Amino acid sequence: MAEKIIYDIGIIGNGPAGATAAIYAGRAGLTSIMFEKASPGGQMGITSIIENYPGFPSVEGFELAMLMNKQAKGFGASSKTSEVKSVDLLSNPKVITTSRGDFEVKSVIIAGGAKPRLLGVPGEEEYKGRGVSYCATCDGMFFRGKEVIVNGGGDTAFEDALYLSNICSKVYIVHRREGFRASASSVKKAGGHDNIEFILNAVVKEISGDESRVTSVTLKDTVTGEEKKVECSGIFVAVGRIPESDLYKDVLNLDPAGYIVAGEDCRTNVDGVFAAGDIRTKKLRQIVTACADGANAAEEAGKWLEK
Ligand code: NAP
Repeated sequence: MAEKIIYDIGIIGNGPAGATAAIYAGRAGLTSIMFEKASPGGQMGITSIIENYPGFPSVEGFELAMLMNKQAKGFGASSKTSEVKSVDLLSNPKVITTSRGDFEVKSVIIAGGAKPRLLGVPGEEEYKGRGVSYCATCDGMFFRGKEVIVNGGGDTAFEDALYLSNICSKVYIVHRREGFRASASSVKKAGGHDNIEFILNAVVKEISGDESRVTSVTLKDTVTGEEKKVECSGIFVAVGRIPESDLYKDVLNLDPAGYIVAGEDCRTNVDGVFAAGDIRTKKLRQIVTACADGANAAEEAGKWLEK
């Protein structure tokens, strides 16, 4: 049964882009409802320490997520913790179907972000939650005093490694080449930690364990082809993300990597539908650029609703 209220804006995702869109919508006198799968914050909510969000020299991702969520609600945004199952973006009003019912909205801002990319190697699926993790801040404490691998060479991998170096006895950063995508400052910081060791030009070939947990990871040297086993209790996979755009692929234009095609005004190819944050085609995916998208998307939605 559809709710009687028809919101001006339905916001899918309650990370920095979604929360900012709700703040701008509320201040412009528009009604909005945000949908989040689990808890507020998206990827930001599971990031350990954030040092590049202006005004907050060092803040926990979860804390920043709760502050943004509170601010959005303070401006009148509603929120529902329920997974969006399908959307009808072409009807009028548009319909967002969730695990807790249908919601009618005049416009939609898609701010669903991205999910972790899997390695697709033997043992990954089998040991998920038993040594294979995609979130250092969520699971790091289970590896206190243990040796772990962080796989990846981007900002997430380095933030994870730095976070885990305070908990684990040893952290190996395994990366498939010699150069990193991560910021130079993070790489320098990690290099200064005695218990962080780099294993470069290496990919994960297999994750092995006993009947209960991971006990080792087999690596393959990308230059020599040589294989070696690293004894460890866990592996944190941080090899990038995949946009959560499956629900929209039949009606919205996506780029080859699956990101929703939209410019800085966040307008998509469907009238009244906007894409904001990590899910949008863009160069720099950061909290601050996600927030900027949220503001632009709400502004554009407001203009579109006035027509
Ligand atoms: P990313 O920047 O895309 O980095 C992914 C890393 O994984 C790359 O080093 C890549 O190697 C490697 N990789 C990809 N596929 C692989 C595979 N199949 N096997 C082995 N390695 C693989 O992803 P991210 O670190 O999650 O960051 C995503 C975005 O969020 C970035 O824009 C980042 O700056 C941003 N971010 C920002 C913050 C912050 O602002 N504090 C924190 C975290 C993330 P190659 O380099 O060889 O391609």
